[in-house]
Amino acid sequence: MRQRNVKNKKEIINNSKYITLNPKEYRGSFKKLFNNDNPIYIEIGMGKGDFILENALRYPDINFIGIEKYDSIIALAIKKIEGYELNNLKLIRMDALIIDEVFNHEIDKIYLNFSDPWPKERHAKRRLTSNIFLDKYQNIFRNNPIIEMKTDNRNLFEFSLISFNQHGYLIKDISLDLHNSNKDDNIMTEYEKKFSLKNNCIYYVKVEKNG
Ligand code: SAH
Repeated sequence: MRQRNVKNKKEIINNSKYITLNPKEYRGSFKKLFNNDNPIYIEIGMGKGDFILENALRYPDINFIGIEKYDSIIALAIKKIEGYELNNLKLIRMDALIIDEVFNHEIDKIYLNFSDPWPKERHAKRRLTSNIFLDKYQNIFRNNPIIEMKTDNRNLFEFSLISFNQHGYLIKDISLDLHNSNKDDNIMTEYEKKFSLKNNCIYYVKVEKNG
């Protein structure tokens, strides 16, 4: 995502009631952060937060955690979310590379929306659906791993389907043209709104594995 520098971004992050500043301290006990045992869904690379905010508003009995690597981007998400009083939403500024140092068998679903495609072969490991990341995700799920992914990037989509398959995931739902399918509970992300205006096809897959 192109970044514009956000003034006072550190201050915005450090003072937000939605941010968990030392997430490793909650490892294995994230339910304490929410004071309940509801399922926890995370979005990795949440960008400016439209998707996770709308989910938190629509599904009060699910806890949501938005993860984003860059200060400026998460600061923009905070500005958007700060006006709401939500007990089921938290945000973490971190690189997903350390995700298994932060969560321990406590996550029920991962959302990956319009993840960076890293088109060059030598950068394939950086894709959020590469072996490296799928191995890490394995340790964060409470029950059966479930991942839902959306992208307009066909190469990333094909790469991800193969990668999921190699890790034993089964396809539970798939669309090669999400906006012309009959999935009526779709919540749009910022990228999705932008790309669909350009008439890009949106690919969607939900994968799950047993154990
Ligand atoms: N999900 C949003 C943003 C997509 S852009 C949307 O659909 O509109 C991809 C986002 O992932 C960017 O904001 C980028 O900063 C973030 N990101 C990329 N790699 C990441 C990583 N390793 N850990 C956390 N966030 C990451």
